[in-house]
Amino acid sequence: MDRSRLERVFQEEQARFVLRNPRSRALWERARAHMPAGVPMPWMTRYPGPFPLFLSRAWGARVQDVDGHTYLDFALGDTGAMTGHSPEAVVGELQAQLAQGLTAMLPTEDGIKVAEELHRRFGLPFWQFTLSATDANRTALRIARALTGRPKVLVFHGCYHGTVDEAFVALEGGVPRSRRGNLGPPVDPLLTTKVVEWNDLEAVEEALAPGDVAALLTEPALTNVGIVHPAPGFLEGLRALTRRYGTLLILDETHTLSAGPGGCTRRFGLDPDIVTLGKALASGVPLGAYGLSREVAEAYAERMAGPHADTAGVGGTLAANPFSLRAARLTLERVLTEEAFARMEALAVRFQEGVESVIRGRGLPWHVTRLGARVEYLFRPTPARNGSQALEGQDPLLDPLIHLYLLNRGVLLTPFHNMALISPATTEEMVDRHTELFAEAAGVIAEAA
Ligand code: PMP
Repeated sequence: MDRSRLERVFQEEQARFVLRNPRSRALWERARAHMPAGVPMPWMTRYPGPFPLFLSRAWGARVQDVDGHTYLDFALGDTGAMTGHSPEAVVGELQAQLAQGLTAMLPTEDGIKVAEELHRRFGLPFWQFTLSATDANRTALRIARALTGRPKVLVFHGCYHGTVDEAFVALEGGVPRSRRGNLGPPVDPLLTTKVVEWNDLEAVEEALAPGDVAALLTEPALTNVGIVHPAPGFLEGLRALTRRYGTLLILDETHTLSAGPGGCTRRFGLDPDIVTLGKALASGVPLGAYGLSREVAEAYAERMAGPHADTAGVGGTLAANPFSLRAARLTLERVLTEEAFARMEALAVRFQEGVESVIRGRGLPWHVTRLGARVEYLFRPTPARNGSQALEGQDPLLDPLIHLYLLNRGVLLTPFHNMALISPATTEEMVDRHTELFAEAAGVIAEAA
């Protein structure tokens, strides 16, 4: 592949982006006076243009920028809006809740309904709520350390679980290291964490065998280095090994909820000790959750029963507020329903088949993979088996080039990698428009090759 020609195509797309978006550019320049890098949250610099698009509004599976361009949104706020933006079935009633109290640090009946429904979906009988998936994971790790009396956590190379200190480790040349970019860790994460490759049960056993690991924290399929599926028997192996060595199994279903109403836990019949959730659970209103097995919940409740529930390092003033819980109840009852997931998955299959036909038609050494309503293309010929292989399949030029090419023509993909998510508001026409543009982009890339 002629990289310099591709580089030139990328420059042309950058120039096109700048011409198309004068208002976003002006806002970004103004923002730089009072926000580092001109953004309110650092990840927003990770979109492919020289500056981010500024949003004017978002609805259904569409977003509109301040220059008036409308985009088909397959990023959906990196899963926060998997429900579609501001779903009518939720926001109508939420408006009433807006006028009836936003936060009071008192429980509401909605919380019980959400816990009952999550029990029905995931099988775990006890639930608690946070403001983010990050905080659900952070708390799950505290609980695991408290109950096991062990200091360490095991994660997989290429994982992401939010801004959880213990999970910021990676393998470099097979050697565990603090993850690149890890800003000011409280302690060297190698003191708190072991890291091994996904789909390697031998390495997992070796890490668990010394008996110092409180929890294995993992997604049931990796989704943050591209989608990396578990090999047959891998998840069962994790369950058997964690039981054998007295380690709690925490499944982070924040993204893998795309596999269905009860995430992978229900779809694959898994039996974790703790499940964590967040992002789309309340249609984008901040909410995280962690579900506990009866055994874990009973031991946890015993610890929390004393006078120190507010200084345990668990919970928060705004967590489990009535607004977020009302939003979650409405989301589960009306938006992320069984029927919606069936529709979303059918569209994701259509998306996958469209991309696959382009890749095959052009004979490109790429592949596309899917987990329920989530689809991802990677620049390697076969599905990755672990985080290292998936990372090798990311391309520092092709990734942003395809993103930008699509963005300049009205399609938004998830930044960081080539991931697309289907919402209940996504349509066949939207999926087909992506396929059409992907085919165009692949043509431009193939010509430059
Ligand atoms: N878990 C997973 C699997 C995630 O992908 C993310 C965010 N990308 C999180 C947890 C953290 O979510 P949040 O940033 O909303 O806390």
